[in-house]
Amino acid sequence: MYILILGAPGSGKGTQGNILAERLGLPKITTGDLIRTAMQDGTPFGVEAKKYYDDGKLVPDSVILSLIKDQLARPEAKQGAILDGFPRTAAQAELVDKTLAERGQRLNHILLLDVTEDELVRRMADRGRTDDTPAAIANRQNIYQRDTAPLIAHYTQRGIVHRVPGTGTVDQISEDIKRIIGR
Ligand code: ADP
Repeated sequence: MYILILGAPGSGKGTQGNILAERLGLPKITTGDLIRTAMQDGTPFGVEAKKYYDDGKLVPDSVILSLIKDQLARPEAKQGAILDGFPRTAAQAELVDKTLAERGQRLNHILLLDVTEDELVRRMADRGRTDDTPAAIANRQNIYQRDTAPLIAHYTQRGIVHRVPGTGTVDQISEDIKRIIGR
């Protein structure tokens, strides 16, 4: 089973993704974490990504598509995975759809974490990542609305989008998700 957790920056994708991955025994693929690790390690990919990351801009598809392809090809992810932080653009969504379709698989559920903008900004201010500066936060919210929110319409047509209110406690939200997924 492939489940995509979608939501604006600060909506709690990582937290809920971890709980879900553990419960279902599936690997979680988190592009943001992979990028942060590469930046820390100073790999060529990390150095390139940093040019965009700190400003809150998306790392270009020309750089990120091969990372996504590699991650989906990992043996652990062959039967399913929790996708956190991607697909985030139309090109990424196409790649994911195509890669899974070639294996006779598909995205089964999209969980859309719904959180108000005030709450998003408050949460990120508490977090203190290098891309949690006011300017970078504003960029990330704008880019989410421009590039990522349109994917919701694309997946809604397939009837696989579930809206999850993201403002309750961590436990309440994960119970909601359990009910939606059915396990
Ligand atoms: P958030 O959702 O709070 O922005 P992420 O860790 O998902 O946190 O993303 C942080 C940053 O990492 C993004 O602003 C972007 O620079 C980069 N990034 C993560 N995933 C992707 C992706 N799929 N495509 C392009 N850039 C990405």
